[in-house]
Amino acid sequence: MSFLSKIVPGYRPFRYVGEKIACNLCGSGEKSVIATRDRWLNPLTNVICTNCGLIRVDPMPTDAELDRYYTDHYRLHYQSTLEPTPKTIERGMSGAKTRLSYLSKLIKPGARVLDIGAGGGEFLAEAKRLGFEVEGVEPSVGFARYAERTYGVKVHIAPLMKIDFGGRKFDLIHSFHVFEHLRDPFASMKLVHSLLAPGGYFYVAVPNMAEKRTPTGMFHFAHVHGFAYESLRMMAEKAGFEWVPSEALRAAQVFRRIETPQTGWFRFPNHARELEQKFRDARLSRHLFSSAPYRRAWARLMRKLGERKLKNAG
Ligand SMILES: [Zn+2]
Repeated sequence: MSFLSKIVPGYRPFRYVGEKIACNLCGSGEKSVIATRDRWLNPLTNVICTNCGLIRVDPMPTDAELDRYYTDHYRLHYQSTLEPTPKTIERGMSGAKTRLSYLSKLIKPGARVLDIGAGGGEFLAEAKRLGFEVEGVEPSVGFARYAERTYGVKVHIAPLMKIDFGGRKFDLIHSFHVFEHLRDPFASMKLVHSLLAPGGYFYVAVPNMAEKRTPTGMFHFAHVHGFAYESLRMMAEKAGFEWVPSEALRAAQVFRRIETPQTGWFRFPNHARELEQKFRDARLSRHLFSSAPYRRAWARLMRKLGERKLKNAG
């Protein structure tokens, strides 16, 4: 371990090979580098698709590499535990109540609700309390078992793509901070579409990469895709949803399953350029306010003084 690993919590470079992929949303290969480090200064390249604005880790880690990362590094980076803690339960419950305060108005009493990335089950517990029929998906065994044990809810312990729902359809599918972890979020959105009853609702929340506050502090190996409101909405519309105005904010949105494919999903053609510019501005201001330019000027001055001294001495 290097010196950095001692002073920066989470500094622990993860070596991987990955693969070059096209943009998951629009299929373009055009890209521009927006970051070369993650939030802990580990080397990590993130690119923005210059066509649609979707952000991704480049090269994209393979499934096997992601598995290795989750096993070896994830707990260190997130300081996460095998089971929910009182703090995560309290935070999860409060967020679930807020979201259900408006989501519950969209569906009928007794409606079927699926939570993708159920965690410790707070959303499922609150939805069950409100009278909905609930089911969850959670790959972490400790969290899934905790949810089942504590709230008496059904939780599938497997990746979403591998679960057999036996033809059951849902009226609301909820997903909180999951899609940024997926190598193929578009395929998962299409799967969500197929799991919904006609007119069913899809709530999806992801970290907002267009947030002004330190955009570069957001990069993270496990977040293989980065969204803003615009790219999230375009992907959902391409996958067969229509956008529903709601109390959800920015990169958390509500969509409704529709039956006719949306041809006009590419509705934010300027988004890629605007978001790329935002990252460029952030990099420039960091450069101006960091000590690097001043250090260089100081070094130049000292060198000149040194040369003069040498000349005088000679
Ligand atoms: Zn794209």
